[in-house]
Amino acid sequence: MTADSSPATITPTPRFLADRMLGKLARWLRILGYDTAYLPQLSPVGIMREGRRQQRLILTRDTRLLRRKDAPPLIFVQSDHFREQLQQIVDTLQLEPLRALFTRCVDCNQALVEVTKDEVREQVPEYVWQTQSEFRRCPECRRLYWGATHRDHVLEELRRLGLVEEEERERGGAG
Ligand SMILES: [Zn+2]
Repeated sequence: MTADSSPATITPTPRFLADRMLGKLARWLRILGYDTAYLPQLSPVGIMREGRRQQRLILTRDTRLLRRKDAPPLIFVQSDHFREQLQQIVDTLQLEPLRALFTRCVDCNQALVEVTKDEVREQVPEYVWQTQSEFRRCPECRRLYWGATHRDHVLEELRRLGLVEEEERERGGAG
C-alpha cells in the first residue's frame, strides 16, 4: 500500500454491499470509512452475484436472500431505521466507528485523497481556507472535504447511538 496517490488511510474491513433498501445505511458506513457499494438497481439474485464476485459482505432487508441456501455471506438487517441498522452492524461486527472516520466520499464510495492547502485555494470559501488545514478530495466526483464538514453533526449522531464516548463525561466519584 505505498502507491504514490494512496488514499488518506488504509480502508478498514469488511467491505459491504448494501441492497436497495439500505441507501442511508450505506452512506453512514461510508462516513465511518467502510467501503460500501450501493447498487439499488440490482435484484436479489444480482445482489448475490455481485456480493460473491466482489467479495463483499451483503447487507440486506430482503428475507428471500435469508432463505437461499446458496447465498454468499450476508447480514439480515432487522430494522427499518438507519440508526438501529447502523447500531446492529457496528455491534455485530465490532466495528471501530472512529478508526477511519471521514476518509471516504459519501456519494461515490471512493477513498478520499489528501490534497494540500495550496491546491484548494481557489475552490473553497475564503473563511474555510483561512480556518482549515486539512483537505481531502474525492477522486471521482472531485468534491472537497475538510475538517469541519458535517463533523459535529456526525459525531452527535454517533454519540446518540452510543458509538462514541461522551467527551465531557462527568468525572469523579469512583476515586
Ligand atoms: Zn465522490
